[in-house]
This record gives sequence, C-alpha cells and structure tokens, in this order.
Amino acid sequence: MNIATQAAQIGLEWDTRTGAVTVPIYQTATFRHPGLGQSTGYDYTRSGNPTRQALEEGIARLEGGARGFAYASGMAAIANLLLLFKKGDHLVVTEDLYGGTCRLFDQIFTQYELSFTYVDTSDVEAVRRAIRPETKALFVESLTNPLLKVADIAALSALCRERGILHIVDNTFLTPYLLRPFDFGADITVYSATKYLAGHNDTVSGLVAVKDPQLAERVYFLQNSVGAVLGPQDSWLTIRGMKTLSVRLDRQQENAARIAHWLAAHPRVRKVYYPGLADHPGHELLARQARGFGAMVAFEVEEHALVERLLLKTKVISFAESLGGVETLITFPQVQTHADIPQELRQRLGINDVLLRLSVGIEDGDDLIDDLAQAFGN
Ligand code: PLP
Repeated sequence: MNIATQAAQIGLEWDTRTGAVTVPIYQTATFRHPGLGQSTGYDYTRSGNPTRQALEEGIARLEGGARGFAYASGMAAIANLLLLFKKGDHLVVTEDLYGGTCRLFDQIFTQYELSFTYVDTSDVEAVRRAIRPETKALFVESLTNPLLKVADIAALSALCRERGILHIVDNTFLTPYLLRPFDFGADITVYSATKYLAGHNDTVSGLVAVKDPQLAERVYFLQNSVGAVLGPQDSWLTIRGMKTLSVRLDRQQENAARIAHWLAAHPRVRKVYYPGLADHPGHELLARQARGFGAMVAFEVEEHALVERLLLKTKVISFAESLGGVETLITFPQVQTHADIPQELRQRLGINDVLLRLSVGIEDGDDLIDDLAQAFGN
C-alpha cells in the first residue's frame, strides 16, 4: 500500500469497541489486571501504552520494519540507540551532523568511552577508510543539516554488511514518504518526529524503526529500561501530524523548488544548496533513491549585513529554530542549530557567517517569494 494511504490511516482501526476513527488518548500511567498473573497486554505506560503503540506500529509500517519506538524527543531516540554500544566501540558518523547530535556524541558518550570519527558520508570511500576493527556502526543523516549533502544509502548499507556493522540512518529531512532506508539495506532509522512527521511545530517527539525483529527486542529493552518514552498526548499529536505527511511534503517541496530557483537567480545570493537544483552534487543520487528533494534550502548571501536584514525583515517567514512544520522558518545555523560544532569544522564545512537556512512551509509560494524580495530590499 502506498505510504500516503498508510500514513493517513494510522490508528484508524484501533478502537473496535466504538469504531472511533482516531486512536483515543489513553492518558493513564497504569492498567488494571484482570486476575492474578494476567494482563490486558498493558501494565504500565513506560512499558507500553495503546496510543503510543498505534504510533509505533504506524512508523514501523511506513518504514517496512519489524518494530517502531516513540521517544520524548529526537535526541532521546538517538541517545537510546547509542546504548546498543559499549565501552571501546567506535562509530563512523556524518561530519555535518545536526549540532545537538554532535554534542551528544562528543560531550556525553565519549565520557563512556565510545569514540566517533566524523567523515563526509556522501563519499563512500571516505567512509570505508574510516572503518576500524572496533567500529560497530555507521550513523548517517540521509540528507544533511544544513548543507544538504546526500548519502548513498544502498552503497553505504552494502559496505556496512560487508564489514558486519550496523547502518543507522537519521532520515529526519526526508521521512519515509520520500526515502525508505530499509529498502536500500539500512538497519535502523531514527527521526526527530518534531519535524516533518509531526509537522506542525506543536510537539517535540522522536521515532525509531528497526528492521530486524531480534535487534528490535534489544531496542525495546533499552526503551523500557531508560524510559524516555513519548507521552500519550504527544503520541496522538504525532499521529495526527503524520496523517497529512504526504500532502504537506508535496506542497513544501513545490514551494522549496520555486524558492531555490528564485534565490539562485538573485544577484545578492552567492550560493544555493538545494538538491533539487541540477548543479547540486547529490541531485542525481537523490533523484534515484528518493521520491523528492525535500523542502530545506540553504543559501549564502553576499555579505554578513544581509543576514541580519533577512532574519529581521521577513514577515511571513519567521525567524525561529526547528524545521519541517507547516510554517516557513529561517535560521542562522552558525549561531543557532550548529553552535555546538567546533568552529574549525564549521568553517571547513561552509557553515559560515553568510549562510542562512530556510525550512519551507505550506504557505502560498508567491507570498513567500514576495516576503524574501521585500526583505532583500527589491
Ligand atoms: N536529527 C536531526 C537531523 C535534527 O535536525 C534534530 C533537531 O533539530 C534532531 C535529530 C534532534 O531532534 P529533537 O529536537 O526532536 O530532539
């Protein structure tokens, strides 16, 4: 079944007693036992809650995985996955990762003697060279944040299989609607569901899907043991958002492509990063492996003074962090989302004082372009 259909129907058949079309919010911490040694299948909400389960089954279905898991945030999801590893293990990771992921790896998990090598994961040979005997996993962002580099999921998964290591894909920027990493051989996907999946900038949530049932058992053990689960209300909001994922993303991509072309022709714009542009290095690869190019656009303006101007003068577009929601947002990655990436690495990657990032929403495309034009002063 098409993903758009699957997403729209998450939770639909949950409540057979009343026939409710949406899954109820089971706002309960605990469940009554029918008898001694008996359970309804639910005992305590950290271990399992029907509203969360509807969401977890939903993401597992969209991905084609064995099981899904919902967490209190994308970071909680990533932190839980890192508990699959132990002292001395090494991971190869994308170099222009989301700053918060980089902070989690470098400032927290290194204390527990995990080590990380940062590489350009759009370069399969660079990844191959970085793998060591103690490497246990490759962690990639399928489309990176903010420079929109594209990872070749099939080639990287084949490499991981050859070397016997796990392939974990942070697919936040694309979602299963645009790219299904398991179809290309990945083992685990992870999402800041705060972004496109929930899609309305109204909840913080994280999702994981695991392809292999045995590995999924281990992840369930970690989820239940650590307990950073998503609450019933936020699970419901995430499901509600996911139902409209396909229509939102179609519109967001359409707007993003228009804006990227408009920016590329603007005399005060130095460079545009959007994989839908034919001259983007990942254009052909993403056209092959995904249904679309996403709705994130990064661009460099000709001088720093324009950064402040655009951030403050845009009226339809809001100056705010985060991404993937229905409202268009503009951010300055150097001091916001990527402040925790070491300065030297930021400069080498091109996260500089003239780079801005747009998360394009579902508003009318003309209104967005008019807003940018007035902010540029033309
Ligand atoms: N992964 C990516 C690619 C992100 O952009 C973010 C947040 O911006 C996260 C993970 C972390 O997710 P959350 O903010 O839901 O904890």
